[in-house]
Amino acid sequence: MIKTEPTFRESVDLMFNRAAALMDMPPGLEEKIRVCNATYTVRFGVRLRGGLQTFTGYRSVHSEHMEPVKGGIRYAISVNQDEVEALSALMTYKCALVEAPFGGAKGGLCIDPLQYDEYELEQITRRFAYELAKRDLIDPAQNVPAPDMGTGEREMAWIADQYARMNTTDINAKACVTGKPLNAGGIAGRVEATGRGVQYALREFFRHPEDKAKAGLSGDLEGKRVIVQGLGNVGYHAAKFLQEEDGAIITGIIERDGALFNPDGLDVEAVRAWLIRHGGVCGYPDAGHATDSGSVLEEDCDILIPAALEGVINLENAARIKAPLIIEAANGPITAGADDILRERGTVIIPDMYANAGGVTVSYFEWVKNLSHIRFGRMQRRQEEARHQLVVNELERLSSALGNSWTLDPRFKEKYLRGADELELVRSGLDDTMRIAYQSMREVWHDRDDVADLRTSAYIVSIGKVAASYRAKGL
Ligand code: GLU
Repeated sequence: MIKTEPTFRESVDLMFNRAAALMDMPPGLEEKIRVCNATYTVRFGVRLRGGLQTFTGYRSVHSEHMEPVKGGIRYAISVNQDEVEALSALMTYKCALVEAPFGGAKGGLCIDPLQYDEYELEQITRRFAYELAKRDLIDPAQNVPAPDMGTGEREMAWIADQYARMNTTDINAKACVTGKPLNAGGIAGRVEATGRGVQYALREFFRHPEDKAKAGLSGDLEGKRVIVQGLGNVGYHAAKFLQEEDGAIITGIIERDGALFNPDGLDVEAVRAWLIRHGGVCGYPDAGHATDSGSVLEEDCDILIPAALEGVINLENAARIKAPLIIEAANGPITAGADDILRERGTVIIPDMYANAGGVTVSYFEWVKNLSHIRFGRMQRRQEEARHQLVVNELERLSSALGNSWTLDPRFKEKYLRGADELELVRSGLDDTMRIAYQSMREVWHDRDDVADLRTSAYIVSIGKVAASYRAKGL
């Protein structure tokens, strides 16, 4: 049992070690996979507000068993080397698990983005991108960043443009970064992809009665009580989709300045609008308020979704967490020590490397779209519609030959006749990815007597895939 809290990177390594100990790997390979290959630290100056300000940024490459390496860039004052390395390791395991053909990387800039205006952020981002790109730490074939906490489409567009300016003849320049706006080479469905992935992960979990039973749950997502921590991009989309499409009841929302709770359910859209307008949840009507956000994390519910920072469930509060099912929408929200406590109590944890892999999965589709220089569905859509029209015409001909004794439901006709656009294809690809990855994890979970949890199963599957790549390379 872990008694003192390790660092984030140590926590990831401890979880890795627990799985690796159950695997049969050639000597030395385990260490090769676990260690972070390289972390580049850059300090650069930007002339702002009449003076020169120095910023510190990182890009960590955990594993190059496949290239390019992939992972977001985080803007937060708390960014540090240990965190970036932990996050880059998680990217390696995440990509392997969902079969996105990338190694793992992560970047970060120590900055509070709220302290700067848009023009200043652009200067800072372009300078950071320049420093990384000139060292091939941004490159369509080698290293492809994406959004993370504190960054989004806007920053990705600046990075893409900066790279294009520095590489004017690179026809694949747009593929140097993912998470771009649609009009700058992005893909439909990327913004909400991580939240959508959380929804698909839960749907898949609820398709398996034995898995639900392990968490003492039954039925489907309808009426399940959900507490979400963090209503940022990931938490907001996950909560919104679960509420609007699956009938889940969002009974608690935890934010930086406090928490909201309502056993009858909170309106996710309304809370989000309030949050954007007021910068916090304080004062929101139609809900109970708690200033001690941590206490709501410990409230009774069916599903807990930590979708904010790492380490929020730790040695201090783990024993008080009541949720029987936790899905880690954030990276590393449960420390290794807390994981021990929760596992012992039988809490089912759907681990981060799987649960939040929707983002990188759709990033993969975006990268492929950029390299193929064509929108998904552009060639097939109308042809598919024409073929479906043939079937409908024939059915209608038969119907009239039989005296119109039956007709096609107009709703069926409308749905069937519509060829898939890019968004539908992205959703289909994401859903398929989440289902297959879950099944690969659960197979280990159910088949092996020495594996009692989904996290260890996820590590076993992904370490196995990374090891296979190394073997294929002759290492
Ligand atoms: N930052 C996201 C993550 O942690 C997305 C990474 C990507 O799309 O490359 O998975």
